[in-house]
Amino acid sequence: MRLSAVAALDPQRVIGNKGKLPWSIPEDMAFFRDLTRGHAMIMGRKTFESLPGGRPLPGRLHVVVSRQGSYRPLGAVVVSNIESAFQEVRLHREEWGDEAFVIGGGEIYGLAMPHLDRLYLTELSRSFEGDAYFPEWPVKEFKEIERRRKTEPFPFDFVIYDRLKS
Ligand code: NDP
Repeated sequence: MRLSAVAALDPQRVIGNKGKLPWSIPEDMAFFRDLTRGHAMIMGRKTFESLPGGRPLPGRLHVVVSRQGSYRPLGAVVVSNIESAFQEVRLHREEWGDEAFVIGGGEIYGLAMPHLDRLYLTELSRSFEGDAYFPEWPVKEFKEIERRRKTEPFPFDFVIYDRLKS
């Protein structure tokens, strides 16, 4: 099974500010929705609570990582650590497909990084205020396999990196 992360980040690796995305990029939102539709998604509790409308996105399995034993939101499976999240998506691969997505935020990308096979990064050219960051990641362990330049509302790239086989 392939474990992938999907993230949008500015040149300083900012991904969020005060519990929200610092930007509004319709084409990136559409990319995220198309990519994850029908798949399992792993996320931190804060990212889960930041989803549009404060509720799960339709047509996806939501696996939420939290230390709060009593956290039981509607429409999500809650696990207490990242390993259990991986187990959960493997368990459901028949129903939710052979690629699962780690969708953030910063804490969860960091925990998942050693296990990721692929990164879908939206690399923004502009800088933003932020308090959540994509982790520093081992660039040399990955190979860029695709880069698509976009221009609206400002220049950014859709980039795919695959982990090099050891
Ligand atoms: P996260 O979404 O990573 O969630 C953090 C929470 O995850 C913690 O509070 C805790 O939940 C749980 N958690 C973290 N580590 C562990 C662990 N080791 N074991 C068990 N549970 C754990 O929070 P961030 O603040 O890092 O990211 C949120 C920000 O990122 C928001 O601003 C959001 O908009 C942004 N974002 C941006 C994305 C992008 O692509 N630009 C994508 C996704 C989010 P609890 O407190 O319940 O115990």
